[in-house]
Amino acid sequence: MLSQLALSIKESPTLKLNETAAILRDKGEPVIHLGGGEPKSRTPLDAIISCTALLNTGEVRYTPADGIPALKKAVIRYTEEHYARAVKPENVIVSSGAKQSIMVALHSILDSNDEVIFPAPYWVSYPEMVKLAGGVPVVVTPSDGTFEPSFEDITQAVGSYTKAIVLNSPNNPSGVVYSEDLVAKVVEFCERKNIWLIMDDTYNRLVFDGRAPTNAYTYTDKDVEDSKLLVVNCVSKMYAMTGFRIGWAVGNRELIKAMGNIQSQQTSGPAAPSQWAAVGALNGVQNSIAALRSTLENQRNVLVARLEAIPGVKVVKPAGTFYTFPDFSAYEKSSQKLAQMLLDKVRVVVVPGKEFGFEGHLRVSFCGAMKEIKEGVERIQWALDPNAPNELYLGSRKLVRDAL
Ligand code: PMP
Repeated sequence: MLSQLALSIKESPTLKLNETAAILRDKGEPVIHLGGGEPKSRTPLDAIISCTALLNTGEVRYTPADGIPALKKAVIRYTEEHYARAVKPENVIVSSGAKQSIMVALHSILDSNDEVIFPAPYWVSYPEMVKLAGGVPVVVTPSDGTFEPSFEDITQAVGSYTKAIVLNSPNNPSGVVYSEDLVAKVVEFCERKNIWLIMDDTYNRLVFDGRAPTNAYTYTDKDVEDSKLLVVNCVSKMYAMTGFRIGWAVGNRELIKAMGNIQSQQTSGPAAPSQWAAVGALNGVQNSIAALRSTLENQRNVLVARLEAIPGVKVVKPAGTFYTFPDFSAYEKSSQKLAQMLLDKVRVVVVPGKEFGFEGHLRVSFCGAMKEIKEGVERIQWALDPNAPNELYLGSRKLVRDAL
């Protein structure tokens, strides 16, 4: 018999889709994966050199549970440069991905039935992670139909059980960057009300149109030790290093210590080669981020233009990340049915909006190859729009819509 907890936790739908796409590809199916969550660019050379240097010693050992000093130092420098905050090693924890930083943070702050508020659409893992930590997820859906809640939408959800608010901006899946005004008000509110604020800055640097990344620290004058702000980052997206599994969090030392204790019992320190790779990435030549940003911006422009050309599809141009979250409800209200239909009929993988708490939408990524983005949208249009050309090639297979 499995535990109630195990029975209540869903499999990560995005990781599941990766598996489905890989299985179909292995069978020779011409799958186009627009459901992905990782850039295709290569690991920065400095990361590889730094990682290999460790491997070449042949001595790959346990590390301190909260991260090697060299990586903490690199994170401190990163925090100074990008957040204008001077922090100490005691304010930094390195984890196996941003995911683990968030997970151990939730374990550190939640007692059973404590509530954690986050806006919809939300990253698929938040509800399950909150539940894993014994808490209760509280979803705030923007009242004006946009992807950004108002400050009042958020404060109306706050009650005596509220322990934390999680903001993810730029947002997965909408690509929306929350306004500075909203972030400022939420930071100020949380500091005043003694509510933890977890800023999931996974996509912080992946912003377009020349805009500056958001820095939540700007809106608090509290010393880091008195602050309830926890800022989470990772090398996963900005350096295209998803497979290394390195993330970190910066916060007050009491919380960071608790997170380190939990991590020490849960997994011990993150893999040493990965930590050295992250040191290389953070301290090395930084041009890969600008290159990735401009590739993504270009791909965003193409994807958005092509999605807008499908009659009835409504798309909000993402200001960051590598996701769009168009509204397909003119064609099908159930996002799961629609995603399944697109996979069955035209072998395109997208993620149903329902997984992100928003029905009628699909998450369509633009982190893959341009060719796949163009062909993927062409296939989607063929499957939905009766005025699209009648014929479509799936690899060497010719489909004729009228014949279906
Ligand atoms: N937060 C958000 C919003 C994400 O999209 C992801 C990855 N998909 C993560 C956290 C987890 O990042 P990591 O791979 O570093 O654990």
